[in-house]
Amino acid sequence: MFLGPPGAGKGTQAVTMAGDLGMPHVSTGDLLRRALREGTEVGIRAKSFMDAGDLVPDEVLLDLVRGRLTSDDAAGGCVLDGYPRNLAQAESLDEMLRELGAGIVGVLNLSVSEETLVGRIAGRRSDESRVDDAAETVRNRMRVYEEQTAPLVVHYRSRGLLLDVDGEPGVEEVRAAVRSAVAAAS
Ligand code: AMP
Repeated sequence: MFLGPPGAGKGTQAVTMAGDLGMPHVSTGDLLRRALREGTEVGIRAKSFMDAGDLVPDEVLLDLVRGRLTSDDAAGGCVLDGYPRNLAQAESLDEMLRELGAGIVGVLNLSVSEETLVGRIAGRRSDESRVDDAAETVRNRMRVYEEQTAPLVVHYRSRGLLLDVDGEPGVEEVRAAVRSAVAAAS
């Protein structure tokens, strides 16, 4: 599982790790954006929250995540990116994994300074034109991260699951650091 603020590089590094491990990359942001594009019930319910940079309500995520984790291709595990985002979701995830006879192997925490994050998101805004990368929405996403998601760092550290990686350098350097943190932990 990956933890880190918006713009830390979770998506990029999670895709690499999924390739390395031969497991699917499960990004709740990607799943929600697809639901939005397809105009599903989940997408309709999620839209206003995503546009504002707020968390989509936990119960909307529940079926989405459960459906993905119980897919055949995730039977051997997956790399989770963007879930859980608060303590209630962390509890739901534990419950889902218990039902599946599975568990969390490790939590990779990418830490990056706020200055770098803002710069990266500004770059992504021009490359990918994500609506939620607009400046004031980004500020809200940072606030939401600090208030709701950052407590998960403490939570998983106390469970002995956290692997800290400095997400500040370039993509390749972070990729190498992620690989060695995973190798050292396995
Ligand atoms: P991401 O691509 O992970 O940055 O997610 C983009 C947006 O999707 C977030 O700002 C939230 O609005 C929503 N989202 C993604 N994952 C979650 C989650 N686990 N819980 C609530 N909202 C989420």
